[in-house]
Amino acid sequence: MKNQTTQFPKVIIIGGGFGGIQIAKKMNKKEVDLLMLDRHNYHTFQPLLYQVATGGLEPDSIAFPLRKVFQDQKNFNFRVADVKHINPENKSVTTDIGDFDYDYLVIATGSETNFFGQKEIEHFSMPMKTVPEALNLRSLILQNFEEALVEKDLERKQALMTFVVVGGGPTGVETAGALAELKNHVLVHDYPELDIHNMKIYLFEGSERILEPFSLQASKKAKEFLQNMGVIVMEKTRVNHYDGDKVTYNTTETIFTKGVVWSAGVKGAIIPGLEKAEIVRGGRIKTTNFNLVEGYENIFAIGDLAYMETPEWPHGHPGVAQTAIQQGQQLADNLIRIINNEKPHPFNYFDKGSMATVGRNKAVVDLKYWKFQGFFAWLTWMFIHLLFLVGFRNKAVTLINWIVNYFSYDRGSRVIIRKFNRESMMEEGKAV
Ligand SMILES: Cc1cc2nc3c(=O)[nH]c(=O)nc-3n(C[C@H](O)[C@H](O)[C@H](O)COP(=O)(O)OP(=O)(O)OC[C@H]3O[C@@H](n4cnc5c(N)ncnc54)[C@H](O)[C@@H]3O)c2cc1C
Repeated sequence: MKNQTTQFPKVIIIGGGFGGIQIAKKMNKKEVDLLMLDRHNYHTFQPLLYQVATGGLEPDSIAFPLRKVFQDQKNFNFRVADVKHINPENKSVTTDIGDFDYDYLVIATGSETNFFGQKEIEHFSMPMKTVPEALNLRSLILQNFEEALVEKDLERKQALMTFVVVGGGPTGVETAGALAELKNHVLVHDYPELDIHNMKIYLFEGSERILEPFSLQASKKAKEFLQNMGVIVMEKTRVNHYDGDKVTYNTTETIFTKGVVWSAGVKGAIIPGLEKAEIVRGGRIKTTNFNLVEGYENIFAIGDLAYMETPEWPHGHPGVAQTAIQQGQQLADNLIRIINNEKPHPFNYFDKGSMATVGRNKAVVDLKYWKFQGFFAWLTWMFIHLLFLVGFRNKAVTLINWIVNYFSYDRGSRVIIRKFNRESMMEEGKAV
């Protein structure tokens, strides 16, 4: 398919995530012909997906139309397209709406949930990587409670009120905390006929401690916060199996549950076709220090998908928004240099620190020279997340929602818009 609108070099960007948006924005007014392809027509602010899943925010608050981001950018085009194959031999990509040619290709497809090859866990548990998946989880939580209300079998009733969050990274910690708030402030009032004390929330972490990449201080405090909210935190606990009714962990132990949230890992969202590329641990594509995919001259990878070894980051950069943003910005400059036959500059990551929230007034923040927890950390977490949300409307709506939720202790978005049905979802090929 012909996609050139000018005589300038054609740059295709696959993915309108944190990295893709930055590179396209930074190339505004440059002499390039940009085409962004994404399977969704919106950008997803993944850090707040868990709030959609637990009824705290409307999905529209964390999704932003990509066309709107680039409304005024003359050198930019966008197509909703699922990219199926990269064809380096004829410099094109194959998508569900046809082929597109490029002179330079930037792959910014991020990552997808990693079930580590465990098919049954993949089938029965709930991932949370996209807006539809967060909505599925929201429906499942509410459906489980509706079902528990009428269930006569006590063991099944308990399983419907038991939730296991697997993976004690920031996503798992935030989800477990939000579930506890839902229990303590909302479900207790919505379901007075159920004994809310029977709602159990487990957080399983395979390593020594939750929030392992954070400081010891942050891990300990987050655990304490969660336990005070009623979450059962189990470290050094590995899930072996889940059959839709029963989780098996540490080989022999079991818990009956109808709600398993899987936040135990991600892997690069690889598109087939790059035969010469080296795929390393975590399904990431190895790149040079200026994001060029090794083995190719005009194909680049940024963000979660890219694996770049540097002296400071010998095992690659963290899979966080800042890596994608900074690599996107740097590659925009480098692409112009490359087009002008100048030498590209190596990427230097500026680590701005890590943070996770556990619930109202509770968060942990690790900066290079300062680590703090509690109310001020929570305010910092909110401020930073609002700052990076795309679009003024989304910032305003989210802030208003947070203020209302804070004073009312409520979660207004607890509606089952679309019933979650695992079997029909599977028939659609997980078309979420
Ligand atoms: C639940 C959750 C919570 C998180 N919390 C935080 C946090 O608090 N702080 C933080 O810094 N990071 C957080 N992250 C990580 C952060 O979101 C990622 O590091 C970041 O999104 C990576 O940016 P990216 O541009 O590489 O990819 P993404 O932002 O994932 O964007 C990838 C884009 O590519 C598109 N795409 C993928 N494959 C194809 C294809 N074949 N064809 C067409 N389009 C395709 C997708 O639709 C998507 O729009 C979180 C992630 C998750 C899932």
